[in-house]
Amino acid sequence: MKSFCWNCFQVIESSEAPCPRCGQSQCAVPGDFCEKLLRALNHPIGETRRRAAFLLGEKRVSKAAANLASLVDGDCDPYVAKEAVSALAKIGSSQALHAIERAASHRSFMVREGAVQALAAAGGRWTRLARRIADSDLSPSVKSAAGTVTAKRGRLARRARVGGAEKGGRSY
Ligand SMILES: [Zn+2]
Repeated sequence: MKSFCWNCFQVIESSEAPCPRCGQSQCAVPGDFCEKLLRALNHPIGETRRRAAFLLGEKRVSKAAANLASLVDGDCDPYVAKEAVSALAKIGSSQALHAIERAASHRSFMVREGAVQALAAAGGRWTRLARRIADSDLSPSVKSAAGTVTAKRGRLARRARVGGAEKGGRSY
């Protein structure tokens, strides 16, 4: 699976081998790894912010929820905000879901679509909320986002659903 070097955020094919750009071993992750990723959420380059958000989601760093929520609320790059929504969905805490709920009224339809998918996959009242939001959204892709996820409910495990929704929206 394609990932990113935790040290320099280069795209890497495998986490088994050292990073081809900076030579950093991907096995030995130091204790301040999360701090480094949290700092990278403020990086001036959007792509780096996006990769940091992705890694924080992959590592299920629950304490990153507040920082990721700030990206959703305030980042000018919709790709970054969308990645932050995906990361919050992986973290899945109540704080994360509330931030995703706010993202469902983001000005970018891409972010709203990701948010509705994430809420629909979260189950219970979040799924009902996702349907309600999707119904009243003007964008056709947001309208259909809740249905795409809920149609798959019961057939796939939650993890597979979240992964599938995420692959559909990924641009690399
Ligand atoms: Zn590297």
